[in-house]
Amino acid sequence: MSRAIELREVSKRFGDAYAVRRVSLTVEPGEFLVLLGPSGCGKSTVLRMIAGLEDITEGELFLGGEPASDVLPRERDIAMVFQNFALYPSMTTRENIGFPLRLRDPSTNHEHQVRATARMLAIEDLLERLPAQMSGGERQRVAMGRAISRRPSVFLLDEPLSSLDAKLRSHLRAEIARIVAELGVTTVYVTHDQAEAMSLGDRVAVMRDGVLQQASAPRDLYARPANVFVAAFVGTPRINLLEGVVNAPLDGPMALDLGRQRLRLPQPLTTDHQLLRIQQGRPVIVGLRPEAVRIGPPSQARPGEAALGGVVEHVEYLGHEVLVHLNTGSRRAVVPDLESSRPAADGGAVRSARRPWLDRALHRVSSLAA
Ligand code: ATP
Repeated sequence: MSRAIELREVSKRFGDAYAVRRVSLTVEPGEFLVLLGPSGCGKSTVLRMIAGLEDITEGELFLGGEPASDVLPRERDIAMVFQNFALYPSMTTRENIGFPLRLRDPSTNHEHQVRATARMLAIEDLLERLPAQMSGGERQRVAMGRAISRRPSVFLLDEPLSSLDAKLRSHLRAEIARIVAELGVTTVYVTHDQAEAMSLGDRVAVMRDGVLQQASAPRDLYARPANVFVAAFVGTPRINLLEGVVNAPLDGPMALDLGRQRLRLPQPLTTDHQLLRIQQGRPVIVGLRPEAVRIGPPSQARPGEAALGGVVEHVEYLGHEVLVHLNTGSRRAVVPDLESSRPAADGGAVRSARRPWLDRALHRVSSLAA
């Protein structure tokens, strides 16, 4: 049975330094929560406090609604998988997966449970292998198998994929999502990889310097970031942060004076319009996701978009999309060149010989200057 996890104003101090500050967070039974943040922001410490591997300095932890700060780790019914998973080197996969079951109940034959776990992880044909006879990805599956074989009520994963190559990582990411959904167990997953966080989590909790910034569904985190840090940490290519002065006439479109040009703000905005009007004449930072910007004069912006002019400094060809790095006069912005990233009309590959997207971008910029 999966249990809720609740952190109430939890802090952790190492010596004089706070690694975690007053974090309050509830993970619902069966929910998949991802803890996301840069290296050293305190994610692992939060996870280790939930597991009982680290004492809580201040605040309280509840598991399944019961106070748990003083419960011994082995009595928390929690399974944990680390980046550098340790399998017993002299045990086969079958023995490694069965080990926690034998520990709990030595007199029973657990073959049925071991097989069910191996099936779930698609490692049935690895049951007789030793860790040294398997690849990193296979070993990580076995480590997960060992963690989940006794069906814990809470599953914690600390950067479980970071030692694997990109292809395997994305494959195992999908597998983890499937396995956790099948188990229906409350899961907390730590990563510094925002793409991993966004693709896995029911909710993503972003941390910075030990402080929780925002805990939201991936879609909300992307569309309604709580602050500039979250806005910049989530999403690739990165959000464009443009500093300017609010220009909000009573009638007429709200705009941002960027120095050399005026940016007509797209509708709808995440920020309350009224709030922005109050900022009239003040400097603000506006965040525009690349897909909400196009190169051109304001009149060319479509609904939901802003149009920017500038000098093309660099064109990044990524295969599935083309990114234009634009110097807007005051700041740099990254804008997808939407037209060139579509396949050619004849169904052939993206036209690359003459780099027409660059020609077109330059053309747009020169028409802006005209
Ligand atoms: P990473 O992704 O690099 O593992 P993290 O976000 O998981 O980072 P933590 O490992 O939780 O961060 O560390 C948070 C802070 O606490 C860091 O500044 C770290 O140096 C410090 N810290 C962690 N463990 C200890 C410890 N045992 N003693 C002293 N300081 C510690």
